[in-house]
Amino acid sequence: MAKAGILLALLTFVWHISTAQNYAIVIKGGHVIDAKNNINEVMDIAVNDGKIVKVAKSIDESKAAQVVNAKGLYVTPGLIDAHVHVFYGTDPERAYSNGPLAVIPDAFTFRNGVTTVVDAGSSGWRNFPLFKKQVIDLSQTRVLAFLNIVGEGMRGGVYEQDTKDMDGKLSGITARRFHDYIVGIKVAHYVGSEWTPVDEAVKAGTMANTPVMIDFGGSNPPLSIEELFMKHLRPGDIFTHCFGQLRDREPVVDINTQKVKPFVLEARKKGILFDVGYGSISFAFSQAIPAIKNGFYPNSISTDIHTNSMNASMKDMLNVMSKLMSVGMNLQSVIQAVTWNPAQEIKHEELGHLSEGAIADIAIFGIRTGKFGYFDYTGYKVEGTQKLECEMTIRGGKIVYDLNGITTPVTIVKPGAGGH
Ligand SMILES: [Zn+2]
Repeated sequence: MAKAGILLALLTFVWHISTAQNYAIVIKGGHVIDAKNNINEVMDIAVNDGKIVKVAKSIDESKAAQVVNAKGLYVTPGLIDAHVHVFYGTDPERAYSNGPLAVIPDAFTFRNGVTTVVDAGSSGWRNFPLFKKQVIDLSQTRVLAFLNIVGEGMRGGVYEQDTKDMDGKLSGITARRFHDYIVGIKVAHYVGSEWTPVDEAVKAGTMANTPVMIDFGGSNPPLSIEELFMKHLRPGDIFTHCFGQLRDREPVVDINTQKVKPFVLEARKKGILFDVGYGSISFAFSQAIPAIKNGFYPNSISTDIHTNSMNASMKDMLNVMSKLMSVGMNLQSVIQAVTWNPAQEIKHEELGHLSEGAIADIAIFGIRTGKFGYFDYTGYKVEGTQKLECEMTIRGGKIVYDLNGITTPVTIVKPGAGGH
């Protein structure tokens, strides 16, 4: 009898746990924006075991270990920043490639709702294994990469002009070998008038079945972007710094007519993708404003964050998104350009949406209203009335950032190694 009583108590206890806590987290009352699933309304979301398990009008919060009060806030897939520089290191001679100009991903991602970053060519086939060991494997942020076509990546100086170290075949082999992390091939900083870097990158991209991302220009006179789009790139290839306007680069908007050039529209029809890649001087309102007025929205919005751009007019992902809203993009389009669009761009369609069964990478935002100044590197300033602010970031089902403690019970982040 006593034994049966204990057994019954035990069963009741187990039953109680399994029914009382069906979910690790329930996010209540937030306005969900999920472009892939066409959701743009107030919904609840339940998370368990690192996955999204339910998206519905009302989910019973008594079944959750933790409840997030998202009333008045926006809930979106974790943001994907498709152009960053995170191969940080201590070699003072190596710029963005194991050098001092790159940033530590976890230090800048979660406070912006970003859960995935794509390093844009800081490493090449020669030093990708070091990048993986030193950054990718140590980050809570999901770090993916475009492999630079030049062997040692963005080391700076004349090295990045060395077409002899731009090897499509070895880059393609490396991209295939590390295909869980390498999502494409990058061309950057090349100022010569040869097509070798682009063509070697496309060769590598074709071998590895990945897109290429092109940071184009620097030669004098500038190389034709019409020729780039129509003769050298394939559908699905990405043109970054798409709203740049520099003397040695051909811009997408004709500054005389204030219209997007007809061949750029043709290129978009062909499947060329346009990425913001804001950076220090790679975004000008003189391009972005007419482009957006023409309805030419970027496919993806990305920061090109590094130690210079983050303290210049770029600042961070949410500032760039708010800035694009200040010149006419609506919230839904901006969110799509940092979630589902870049996920498709990098062929990681398991990311960038909130489908049931998807990885629980989630961002929660508030929108502050007031007067906000948005300026570019030329000094042109736009006054905005809205500013996005990250309230919470969830990465793989774990709350990794909570600005105001909107969780009950509140999440205590445990100290890492070292214990401080
Ligand atoms: Zn860059």
